[in-house]
Amino acid sequence: RDSMPSPNWPLDLISKTRRGGHKFDHGHVMVFAGGVGRGGAGRLAARAALRSGAGLVTLLCPPAALQENACQLNAIMLRAVRGPEALEDVADERVSAFCLGPGMGVSDRTRDMVQAVLARRDPVVVLDADALSSFAGDPATLFAATHERVVLTPHEGEFARLFPDLAAGVRGELSKVDVVRMAAARAGCIVLLKGADTVIAGPDGGASIHAAVYGRSVPWLATAGAGDVLAGLIAGLAAPQDAGDLRDLVEVAVWLHVECARSLGPGLIAEDLPEELPKVLRALG
Ligand code: AMP
Ligand code: MG
Repeated sequence: RDSMPSPNWPLDLISKTRRGGHKFDHGHVMVFAGGVGRGGAGRLAARAALRSGAGLVTLLCPPAALQENACQLNAIMLRAVRGPEALEDVADERVSAFCLGPGMGVSDRTRDMVQAVLARRDPVVVLDADALSSFAGDPATLFAATHERVVLTPHEGEFARLFPDLAAGVRGELSKVDVVRMAAARAGCIVLLKGADTVIAGPDGGASIHAAVYGRSVPWLATAGAGDVLAGLIAGLAAPQDAGDLRDLVEVAVWLHVECARSLGPGLIAEDLPEELPKVLRALG
């Protein structure tokens, strides 16, 4: 999609709770960060979630990384979490969206955390980066746990680890759109394949799959941490109690991400993207 479907397209989908309500009505996002020296990706995602409208954002990190994160956060809350068994202690039923993967590390702990979060069924779950790569070699285990409120946001390398046969299809005869449709059907959730053009597909009522393509990207968006920002942006947009259709919101998130990059221009770094959101949102009216 190169242009907005209607003049009010993004606003229709994202602005309802902005008119009022308690911060809890705007949703609580939990983002998982990695260990010492690896927390930046999680902090970027958390910042994007807060800027995109979530009422509260909590960053969860291993106990050893608490100090590193604490000195870099203000409005974002911080909790230490040892492992999946501790999840119930930090995440109550009011958590409306989770974002896992950026900077978490490819490990059994990451796999266990993903599975513990998916088992809750209710909140939206955005899985990116290491949350995906931790299931390389055993993607069926991940797909058995995913549900319709899950969004997978791989770049091409991560996509190939989860869907090796389909990735080969992109290099062969299949179109990227067809391949992402097949991936979404297999995973039973929304799949967003990043790149210079981004393709989104989601299972609609089970069998039928829709896809949207964005060819409007900007080359300077290919910078460290940009994908982490997108994952947080999706979680933040999906967090409000009255958030609309998840696949629509994923489209809006991709669009906003690119608009922020266009507004900033060459030289942007990932930290700039969430800070540009208020300007882009204000310009929408
Ligand atoms: P990640 O690889 O997770 O950091 O995500 C990279 C981000 O940059 C995604 O939002 C991609 O869609 C975007 N991106 C990657 N390559 C390009 C490119 N050549 N032109 C424009 N955007 C890109
Ligand atoms: Mg990434």
